[in-house]
Amino acid sequence: MTDDPRDTVATSARIMAATGAGDLIWGHVSVRDPEGRGVWLKQASYGLEEITPERVHLVASGGEVLTGGGQRHSEFPIHTEVMAARPDVGGVVHVHSRYAVALAAAGAELLPMSHEANYFAEHGVPRFTETADLILTRELGRSVAAALGDAQALFLVNHGIVTVGPDLETATVAAVILDRACQQQLTTLGYGGTPSWSDPVESRAKREHIYSDEAQHQVWDYLARNLPPLN
Ligand SMILES: [Zn+2]
Repeated sequence: MTDDPRDTVATSARIMAATGAGDLIWGHVSVRDPEGRGVWLKQASYGLEEITPERVHLVASGGEVLTGGGQRHSEFPIHTEVMAARPDVGGVVHVHSRYAVALAAAGAELLPMSHEANYFAEHGVPRFTETADLILTRELGRSVAAALGDAQALFLVNHGIVTVGPDLETATVAAVILDRACQQQLTTLGYGGTPSWSDPVESRAKREHIYSDEAQHQVWDYLARNLPPLN
């Protein structure tokens, strides 16, 4: 473990790539700056799997790069505005997870057909439909934050997902689990039959029993231990 936000951002980015969320050079993750200057954000122009601590920079709420070089992701307002709206959030993931994008684009409801979707039992996964275009302005970032509300994940319909957590470790695990939930649902429906899923009471119980903070950090550790080496 390390206290340097750059290390956490790099590990998160590589975990997202290793778990199938990579989309060429797109998708980004961030940690709130402990000193309140902005967010430590993955640099643009690299794939998630290529992120080292040197490819992470500090971005202020207006978009200025304060520390570190490289190109800044144009969608930085997702990170800065969600963190402004949610003081409880310490880490933000925005990726284009394929199954999650597909489910939201289909207009399908996310259903707890296996363990995974129960992770989101408390607040569900709301949908942002104002635009499927990039989140380029602070105003749009605030709209994304409003759509997220108190939830831990948001579908940006026809675009991607946003997940948050008290730290980036938790936000990362949420993003991994959301895509697995969507993939599981598609697989289940492919069998036809008579699909079943947990009711809300069971769903909340499963959330509590399976996805404790300790378990989520153990999942992060597991994923970090098993990362492929950097090229
Ligand atoms: Zn995007």
